[in-house]
Amino acid sequence: MNNNLTPFPQELIFHVGDVSAAPTVSFEFFPPKTEEMEQRLWETIVELAPLRPAFVSVTYGAGGTTRERTHATVRRILKETSLTPAAHLTCVGASRAAVDEVARAYWESGVRHIVALRGDPPQGSTVYAPYPGGYAYANELVEGLRRVGDFEISVAAFPEKHPESPSFEQDMEVLKRKVDAGATRAITQYFFDADLFYRFMERVEKAGIKIPIVPGILPIGNFAQVLKFSHMCGASVPPWLHEMFDGLDGQPVTRNLVAAYVAVEQCRKLQQQGVRQFHFYTLNRADLTAAVCHVLGVRRQADARAEPTRETAQG
Ligand code: FAD
Repeated sequence: MNNNLTPFPQELIFHVGDVSAAPTVSFEFFPPKTEEMEQRLWETIVELAPLRPAFVSVTYGAGGTTRERTHATVRRILKETSLTPAAHLTCVGASRAAVDEVARAYWESGVRHIVALRGDPPQGSTVYAPYPGGYAYANELVEGLRRVGDFEISVAAFPEKHPESPSFEQDMEVLKRKVDAGATRAITQYFFDADLFYRFMERVEKAGIKIPIVPGILPIGNFAQVLKFSHMCGASVPPWLHEMFDGLDGQPVTRNLVAAYVAVEQCRKLQQQGVRQFHFYTLNRADLTAAVCHVLGVRRQADARAEPTRETAQG
């Protein structure tokens, strides 16, 4: 036996598949448009539920276009699974009264967690304009939600700053306003370079922000789509990532393995910075998120299935 081998770095041994170091995870879904998509979402939920996420969130389409579908998906999760749903809600295209009504309906149906967002301009417009009589920005929405019920409220944060913010300072000011209004957690826009998060957290600390900041992780299922979306939302795609996916267009299996590797590496670097919670943008597919979670030590729990609860099974 060769005793001269260089030992693996401790943090590597500690993190790979180490159940005792497993992070807390949460998953984001979008509301399905068709029955086929609904079926796929439900298969995804069934697959991911045993990983016992802290919560699962359901997005709200630009301009409130998915209001009914978001609500229906959240209701179904609440009724048919043991998962804790979080409903996204935006300020776009609705009066304060209409938004309050949606929030009240959530509260009454038992939903206790809202992801409160300003939202992007509806299709067809490029510039955001507050709706007349509506909540203008996310901090106002947070304030409004506080009046409706004692919700847990997550808000958005941007390690690379929001594309409309003129500076990092102003962006941090905006996040601080949302926290002061009553936000209890921030979830970040996705990013690929772990150092960006480190620098962001330095600014968060300097601003005296104390709520948990959960990094949003996007496992890359479709690189071309990620490039397009990143351009719109202001997330940078580093050169090494282009190189990583170069030449893999016709090789879906290899591409998937590479995507899982990239996300695991990112999470491990973040864990080395002290991160213990991740929010996964699943895009309604289970495979990549499940694989990444597994490597990070998150294991399936038999008693946390997305099956009808006894209550619903008995009608
Ligand atoms: P805000 O915090 O209100 O900030 C938006 C911009 O306005 C910033 O540039 C800020 O500097 C500026 N601003 C804030 N207050 C003021 C003020 N008083 N005066 C002038 N400027 C101001 N979008 C959806 O449509 N549906 C979703 O379900 C959804 N989910 C998301 C989940 C996460 C985790 C994230 C990170 C984003 C999500 N988005 C969603 C996208 C989000 O709606 C957009 O990024 C939007 O442009 C900003 O939302 P915000 O809540 O950060 O807005």
